[in-house]
Amino acid sequence: MNFNCIIKTGLVAVAAMVSLSSFSQDLIARQAPIDKKLKTVDSLALQKQIRIEQSEYPALSLYPTWNNQYVHAYGKDVIVPDSYTIDLTGFHMPTPSTKITSPFGPRWRRMHNGLDLKVNIGDTIVAAFDGKVRIVKYERKGYGKYVVIRHDNGLETVYGHLSKQLVEENQLVKAGEVIGLGGNTGRSTGSHLHFETRFLGIAINPVYMFDFPKQDIVADTYTFRKTQRNPTRAGSHDTEVADGTVRYYKVKSGDSLSRISKITGVSITKLCELNRITTKSILRLNQVLRCS
Ligand SMILES: [Zn+2]
Repeated sequence: MNFNCIIKTGLVAVAAMVSLSSFSQDLIARQAPIDKKLKTVDSLALQKQIRIEQSEYPALSLYPTWNNQYVHAYGKDVIVPDSYTIDLTGFHMPTPSTKITSPFGPRWRRMHNGLDLKVNIGDTIVAAFDGKVRIVKYERKGYGKYVVIRHDNGLETVYGHLSKQLVEENQLVKAGEVIGLGGNTGRSTGSHLHFETRFLGIAINPVYMFDFPKQDIVADTYTFRKTQRNPTRAGSHDTEVADGTVRYYKVKSGDSLSRISKITGVSITKLCELNRITTKSILRLNQVLRCS
């Protein structure tokens, strides 16, 4: 009998003795569902990890294909779900700078499908989430030297105008891993990072998900909702509410309803209505409020 075996037998004996007392029985009974729950969570996370490692590419259930050609590679073969919750935990700021120099939205009569973050030439640019590099290309009149990564959470991120790409297509990357250096290549005036977040090819304003000045996520999840307006046509105007996406706000230290109202541009009455709270409700730190 080896040491391990002795311990196990010992434990069984102890458990048997303990179970004699009704108090302990009660304790064990109460403990059991928690243990079971923990095990389920563990095995789910493990299964997910195994699936990702074994699958050809991340978010296999959402994307029918994997190609190294086009940023918006999804046509009629893609089924866009009516609603999809994207897990934002594990986010890493792509740049050392948090300054947005040009926001998402229509610009110079065309759609700016991402936002620009100030960087200096040579600044390290890192992956926003774990994922797999889909594209490493150069477009003289567009993105310049750019990288596209597909993530396990279903998002794809685009990093444009780089001076140097430091990853290869089909390479697995971790959140925070260096993928390139900041630059001014392509259609760009002044060094900056052009950063896009896309879901099945549909560009989503990154500020709905990320609070760049605070280098944090707005909430742990972001719920994408399909609307008529979603397909990114030239000139389509994604206003904060009209695009049908639901925005959330994570309560920070020192926040009040009036402050959140100012930040989000949503009236206090509307915030109360959406979150079934009153002006007298006490806000908890990290509480997630619906804003649309
Ligand atoms: Zn840009």
